[in-house]
Amino acid sequence: MDTTIPDLESASAEEVVAFAVERFHPRLKMACSFQKEDSVLAHMLTAIEPRANLFTIDTGVLFPETLTTWKRFEERFGLSVELIDASSPSDPWTREQCCGAAKVAGLERALTGALAWVTGIRREQAPTRVAASKLERDERRGIWKLNPLADWTEKDVWGYIFKHDLPYHPLHDQGYASIGCVPCTLPGEGREGRWAGEDKTECGLHI
Ligand code: SF4
Repeated sequence: MDTTIPDLESASAEEVVAFAVERFHPRLKMACSFQKEDSVLAHMLTAIEPRANLFTIDTGVLFPETLTTWKRFEERFGLSVELIDASSPSDPWTREQCCGAAKVAGLERALTGALAWVTGIRREQAPTRVAASKLERDERRGIWKLNPLADWTEKDVWGYIFKHDLPYHPLHDQGYASIGCVPCTLPGEGREGRWAGEDKTECGLHI
């Protein structure tokens, strides 16, 4: 395998995805939460590699609309999204005891054996994401992380979705720009609806 690492900062999203597939598939995983960025990435990825590996972490407190979007993704893209079960029926989520730790543990399980993972991170989403590179080292896990949409705007994302008539999460049409789990997600622009009124800005997957 070619081990040189190119500079992908000027590459298009499609070129980054193509590089990821060529270099890392089948040990390439895409994290999918069925948000609008995932509609774009699932489309790009499966256009190149129909057997692409997508996974989602089910905290047990997902919106019903997330579950229906999951089904629509599988129908449209012709794949089965791997379920990583991070739910805890005996120890449910509370404000005081967030499921974030279980979600991160689920991510570690999902990425076992992977050489790289793809995410829908965009720099404009949050101050914690402005430094995201299109290809970066995930030092915590010793693998590569690809953020093909790092320099995309919200408008870019919607333009792509409508151009290709892709399925997308219906809560986006109800004012939810970012969608996590039921207990800590409200409508809002950007990520303002996530943990509204609290200092928290990430579940923990990307920190
Ligand atoms: S979205 Fe909320 S409930 Fe879900 S994993 Fe993140 S912090 Fe926990």
